[in-house]
Amino acid sequence: MSFIDRHLGPRDTDLESMLSTVGYDSLGDLVDAVVPSSIRIDSALNLPEALSERDAQEKLAGYASQNIVKAQMIGAGYYDAITPPVLRRNILEAPGWYTSYTPYQAEISQGRLEALLNFQNTVMELTGLEVANASLLDESTAVAEAATMMKRSNRKVKNGKFAIDSRCLPQTLSVVRGRAEALGIDFVVTDFADGLPEGDLFGIILAYPGHDGEVRDIKPLVDEAKERNALVTVNADLLALTLLKSPGEMGADIVVGNTQRFGLPLWYGGPHAAYMAVHSGQQRNMPGRLVGVSQDATGRPGYRLALQTREQHIRREKATSNICTAQALLAITAGAYAVYHGPEGLKKIAETLHENASRVAVALSGAGLKLVHESFFDTVAFDVDGKADEYVKKASDAGINIRKINDDRISISVGESHDDTVLTALVEAFGGKLPESGKYEIASDLLRTDEYMQHPVFHLYRSETSMMRYLRQLSDKDLALDRTMIPLGSCTMKLNAAAEMEPISWPEFATIHPLAPADQTKGWKSLIDELSDWLVAITGYDAISLQPNSGASGEYAGLRAIRAYHEDNGDTQRSIVLIPMSAHGTNAASAALAGLDVAGVATAEDGSIDVEDLKAKIEKYGDKIAGIMITYPSTHGVFEDKVVEVCKLVHEAGGQVYVDGANLNAQMGLAQPGQFGGDVSHLNLHKTFSIPHGGGGPGVGPVAVGAHLEKYLPGDGYLANEEGKLEGAPLPISQAMFGSAGVLPITWMYIAMSGAEGLKSASEYAILNANYIARELGEKFPVLYTGPGGLVAHECILDLRELTAQSGVTAEDVCKRLMDYGFHAPTLAFPVPGTLMVEPTESESKAELDRFITAMSTIFDEIKYVADGNISVEDSVLRNAPHTVEVVSADEWDRKYPRSEAAFPVPSLHRNKYFTPIGRIDGANGDRNFVCECPPMEAFDIEVTEAS
Ligand SMILES: *Cc1c(COP(=O)(O)O)cnc(C)c1O
Repeated sequence: MSFIDRHLGPRDTDLESMLSTVGYDSLGDLVDAVVPSSIRIDSALNLPEALSERDAQEKLAGYASQNIVKAQMIGAGYYDAITPPVLRRNILEAPGWYTSYTPYQAEISQGRLEALLNFQNTVMELTGLEVANASLLDESTAVAEAATMMKRSNRKVKNGKFAIDSRCLPQTLSVVRGRAEALGIDFVVTDFADGLPEGDLFGIILAYPGHDGEVRDIKPLVDEAKERNALVTVNADLLALTLLKSPGEMGADIVVGNTQRFGLPLWYGGPHAAYMAVHSGQQRNMPGRLVGVSQDATGRPGYRLALQTREQHIRREKATSNICTAQALLAITAGAYAVYHGPEGLKKIAETLHENASRVAVALSGAGLKLVHESFFDTVAFDVDGKADEYVKKASDAGINIRKINDDRISISVGESHDDTVLTALVEAFGGKLPESGKYEIASDLLRTDEYMQHPVFHLYRSETSMMRYLRQLSDKDLALDRTMIPLGSCTMKLNAAAEMEPISWPEFATIHPLAPADQTKGWKSLIDELSDWLVAITGYDAISLQPNSGASGEYAGLRAIRAYHEDNGDTQRSIVLIPMSAHGTNAASAALAGLDVAGVATAEDGSIDVEDLKAKIEKYGDKIAGIMITYPSTHGVFEDKVVEVCKLVHEAGGQVYVDGANLNAQMGLAQPGQFGGDVSHLNLHKTFSIPHGGGGPGVGPVAVGAHLEKYLPGDGYLANEEGKLEGAPLPISQAMFGSAGVLPITWMYIAMSGAEGLKSASEYAILNANYIARELGEKFPVLYTGPGGLVAHECILDLRELTAQSGVTAEDVCKRLMDYGFHAPTLAFPVPGTLMVEPTESESKAELDRFITAMSTIFDEIKYVADGNISVEDSVLRNAPHTVEVVSADEWDRKYPRSEAAFPVPSLHRNKYFTPIGRIDGANGDRNFVCECPPMEAFDIEVTEAS
C-alpha cells in the first residue's frame, strides 16, 4: 500500500456512501463545486514521484550521511547536551506527547499542563523570580520580547532608550535590532565596562555570562540601573544559574534565555524552548503562555492556561506579542530533564562543565594560548594572534568544532557529552596536556548559596522506572491524536506519520551545530534546498525562507518584507494594513510588531470579505495602504470567489497582498496563493505539512514571496557586522538561520512520500471529510457559512447560538460534554463567538467521523431535553460535564440523571472509555488567585466533595 493510502482516513469503499451523503457522484465533481474555477490550477504540481516509506527514508538517509558529526564546542547559544534516552523515547518519540494540541481545553490536558508547570517552576527557581512562562520561541526573540516588555511596563521612564550588552549572542543583537528598528525604539549596544551609558534609559539587558564565556559581577550595574529607574533584564544561561547567584536575588526584573542545554538536541539550531521569568504582578505584561493552578468543580486542584482572555485572538494589535505556537514539546522535555536530574544532578552537571572548562584553560594556557577571562562558566576564550583559522582547523581535524570569534580570538564551550576522550583530543591537537583538575574558580561572591528546586517533583523520579511511569501517568491524563480525532478548526490536526517522525532522531540531523562549517552540513543544505523548491512549487511563489519558527513569526517576516519594499520604492507613508475582522489574532499582532497600523475590513453577510467596505477603506486610506492580510480559504471555512478581485483592488491601490496560508490544507494541488494574487504568504508546516503540534509547538512558518520581495527575506543574524548590518539580506527574525530546522525532515518526508497526486488527494479528502460532517450535522447544528452549492472548504462552523438561546446550553458546555464521549473539542468561539469550528482533516476515517457525528447528535438530543424544559441547564448532564471517575463512582449520587448517562451515553464507550482526571475547571478563580507554582502534593489528597 502506498504512503498516501495510509495517510488518508476514508477507504475507497467508503467513498461512494460519503459522496452520496454530500450529494456528488465523484470526488472530482465535489472539488470542482467547492474550489472556484477562477483560482483553480489545471496542471499537476511540479514535484517528484511519490516514494514509499522505505525509499523516502533511504533517500533522506543519503542526505543525512552528507552531514559530518563532530563534538560541538562552538557554543554561541548551542551546547552539546545529553538527551536522556528515557526522555527521548517517552516524550520526543511518543505520540501521546507530540501529537497533542495546545492545552486550551484544560480538562483533557492535565498531563502536559503539569509537565509545563514543571518547566515554569524550574525556571522560577533558577532565576529567582516568581513567575515564568512556557515558553518562548528562541533566546534571541526572548531578549527582544524583554526589550519591548520593559518599554511597555516602565512607568517612570517613558521615553529614552534601552542599553543592550554587546556580550549577548551576535544573533540576539541582530534580532533585537530588527525588532527595535521596526518599532522605532531607541537603543544602544555597550559592554557596560564603564557602567551604564548616559541619558534616559527605560531598561538595560545584561548578558550573564557573556557569549565569550566571561562571568562578571552584574550587581553594581543592576544597582545603578535601579537608581536611574531603568528596568533590568538579565539574559542568563539557565544551567549556569545552578551555580551562580540568581538574577532575582540581585534585583533583576526580567530574566530570559534558552533551555536547549536541558537535554535537547542541537538540531542545526532548533527547535528549543526559550524562557522568560518576571516578578509577580507583571504576568499580564508578559508575552507567551502561562500555566496556572486553579480548581475544578469539586474543589480539586487543576491546571489551566492562565489569563486566557488575553489570548492573541482577543487582543489583536493590543496583544503583548504575536506568540501563539511556542515550544511546548521542548519545554516539556527540558522540564522533565530537570525533574529527572533534580537540583543536585543539575548542579553536578554544571560543576563538571566548569571543572572541564577549567582543565581546558589550564592545558591550553600551558600550550601557550592566552586565556582571555579567568572568570567563566563553561566557555573559555583565548587570544591566538591572528591564528584563529589555524586552531579551528586543528580542532576540526581532531573531530571537534570550536568557535572563531574573530581572527585573533577563539572560544571553546564544554558540553555535557564531552568526556575526557574529547577533551584530551582537543588539548593535544593544540599541543597541550589535559590535567587531572583545573585551577580556575568562580569568585565566591558570585556563587549562589540559597536552596532551589525543593518541591517533591524534583526529587521523586530518579530511577528510570519511576521516570518512565511518571511520564506515562501524565500522558495518560491527556487526549492526543493517539486516542481520538482532534477536530480543531484552523489547526489541521492531521496524521504525523511514524516514518516522518523517525528521522529527526538520527544523529546526523540531531547533533549538528547551526554554526558548523558548510562542508559538514551538506546534508542539511540538500534537504533545505529541496524542501524550499517543493514548497515554492506548491504555493506558486518564487522564493521562500524557512527561518520563521511559528506561523506568527512568518507573518512578521512577511510584513517586514512588505514594509521594506515600500520603503525602497520611496513609499514610506504606506503604513496601514487592512485586516478582516475574522482574521486570526496573530495577523494584527504581527502587523503591530512590524510597526504597521491596522485597519479592519468588514465581513459580508455570507462570511466573505465585504468588497464594498474594502473599496471604502481603499478610498479612505489611499496611498497610506501598505497592503491587506487575507486568510484563504477564509477562517469562515469557505473558498471565496471574490479573492481575485480583492487582490486586484489592493494592487491597484499600490498595496501588497499577504495571504495567510496557515489553511493551505485544502489548496495543495488545487490552487496557489502565489498565482491567484498573493505577493507573500506564510505556511504552517505544523498544520498542513505534518509536523506535530507537540502540545503547542514546535512550529515552522516558512514565508514564501514573489520575486520582487525575495531580497527582503530574513538573513543570518550571526553574520551581522559590528554596526548590525548584514550583507545582502535584512536582519533575521529568529535566532537560527533555519529556525526550527530539526523538524524539517518531517515535512520533507511527507512531501516525498505524497508526491503531487498525494498532496492533491490530501486536499480533496480534507474537503470531503469536512463536507461529510457538515451535511450529517448541519440539520441539528446549522453550518454558519457555506459557499456555492451549500458546500464548505476544509472546515465548517457549527452555529450553536440558536440552541443556546433555547436551552441555555453553551458551546463551551458542548466542548466539555464531548470529553465524556472521548473527544477533543473543536475550536471554540473562533472566529465567531457561540460557535464551534470543526476541521476533521483528510486523515480521519469514516468510522471516526461517524463516531463524532454520533456523539454530536446525542449531545443535540441532550440539549433538546433541556430546551424542552425536562431539566434545568444547571442540573443537566451538559453543564456538569466532564464527569470524572471519582464523581461517577462516588457513594453518593444526587444528580438528576443516571450515572450511566454521565459516563456511558453511547454504547461504543463500553469498549473504549476515557475519563478526564478533573472536572470542569474554574477559569475565573484561577485568574483571580493567580498561582503558577507547583501546588504541594498534599493538595491532591483532599476528599472529593460533590459540586453543589
Ligand atoms: C494557526 C494560525 C496562525 C498562527 O500560527 P502559529 O504557528 O500558531 O503562530 C495564523 N493564521 C491562521 C489562519 C492560523 O490558523
